[in-house]
Amino acid sequence: MITVDQALNMNRGEIRRLSSEYMNPGLVTMLTVLDFDKRFTRAEAQYMWDHEGNRYLDCLGAYGALNLGHNPPQVLETLEKVRSRPNLLQASLNPLAAALAHNLASVAPGRLKHCFFCNSGAEAVEGALKLARAATGKTAIVYCHGSFHGKTLGALSVTGRKKYQAPFEPLVPGCEAVPYGDADVLQEALKRTGAGAFIVEPIQGEGGVVVPPDGYLAKAREITSRAGALLIVDEVQTGLGRTGTLFACEHESIEPDILCLAKSLGGGIMPVGATLATPEVWRRAYGGLNRSLLHTSTFGGNTWAMAAGLAALQAIIENNLPRTAAERGEFLMTQLRALASRHRIIKEVRGRGLLVGIEFAQEPASVLERVAARPLEQFKEEYTASLVAGLMLNRHRIITAYTLNNPNVIRLEPPLVVSREDLEHVASAIGDILEKHPSFASLALATGRSTLSGLAHRE
Ligand code: PLP
Repeated sequence: MITVDQALNMNRGEIRRLSSEYMNPGLVTMLTVLDFDKRFTRAEAQYMWDHEGNRYLDCLGAYGALNLGHNPPQVLETLEKVRSRPNLLQASLNPLAAALAHNLASVAPGRLKHCFFCNSGAEAVEGALKLARAATGKTAIVYCHGSFHGKTLGALSVTGRKKYQAPFEPLVPGCEAVPYGDADVLQEALKRTGAGAFIVEPIQGEGGVVVPPDGYLAKAREITSRAGALLIVDEVQTGLGRTGTLFACEHESIEPDILCLAKSLGGGIMPVGATLATPEVWRRAYGGLNRSLLHTSTFGGNTWAMAAGLAALQAIIENNLPRTAAERGEFLMTQLRALASRHRIIKEVRGRGLLVGIEFAQEPASVLERVAARPLEQFKEEYTASLVAGLMLNRHRIITAYTLNNPNVIRLEPPLVVSREDLEHVASAIGDILEKHPSFASLALATGRSTLSGLAHRE
């Protein structure tokens, strides 16, 4: 057996070997091709340090799970307070779960009140889909192309990317995809399918940081109500301050029937998910003794998770991180848009608050093949963002990544405690990379042929 102390002291080679042999070899290849698998040994706020003491700026923020940054002291100190408490209280009531449910209800939009706690974003979505079916008695669900709601079977059934769905079909029946941002098609789909719910992200994170047209969410609210369908808003990534308000749906002042939260709710330390519902939805789905155990989770609402959730929510609100996100996001976006006006390779800069995406122009396959000096059979026109992310990491010590459903988009999603100086560093690093490598060919050559060939086969 390898002990914790031994594991903490493993070198990169050992970590790669064990991860490849006992975990996911394909993923290990993908991360090592771009030299992404640094050996990070310390993390605090927006920074991480590797074993040689080099400091990196984390602009990925665990896809929205690190709004408070790494190892937030408020959360760690709160966990100390519950060390000797029972963590799992199945046949009793947990005071911390009751308190967090109360606090969430007091800040959540509209009449959202009853809360189910789980352990991840996908589970929060599963909870929402089940709630909607149980509350309405209808099975069909409408979702959006390009959406990301998680990879468990139910959540995957409403996640709009064929690549992730296809190997697992048939998925949950009755799920119908519509274009994101198109209220007319939504109206028609709800009518045709008689759906019980429409699930939507206020901004599509993994879809490539896609901001819908102004008024879309308000229209979706109106249309679902008229059609007798519930509106499920998935704020797993956009929630808790990320986009400049505590919840992104506040931007259009809408009141969802069901809200999904996770990621930063655990303060970047504990896995915590939550599904919130209005009293009517809850009563119709799980009201009464007989229905009270229809949806449960062993670790959902455990003491450590709830303590982390209470501390995280309090810290986000007390430190007014939504306002910081709005202000810093504006600052970053202004700088990036200036870069976009100088570099043709940037197709668009978009986002809200500190959920920012840079979309790169796609290169024709022939250019890529010339650079890689080999045919790229599995070519998907999705290289530029990976190459820029690789250079950002290895030349400028800034951690970024592409978005899952649109690999041509780099996401900038730093902890909300990031400073203006950090963001200037990010913009100047991107500027420097594009100045030196204004075309895909030059970027690819800077990264190396072997890397490009490796990327070509990452699918
Ligand atoms: N919903 C949204 C909007 C997400 O962005 C994600 C993850 O990125 C999920 C759900 C799934 O969360 P998890 O990875 O915790 O299951």
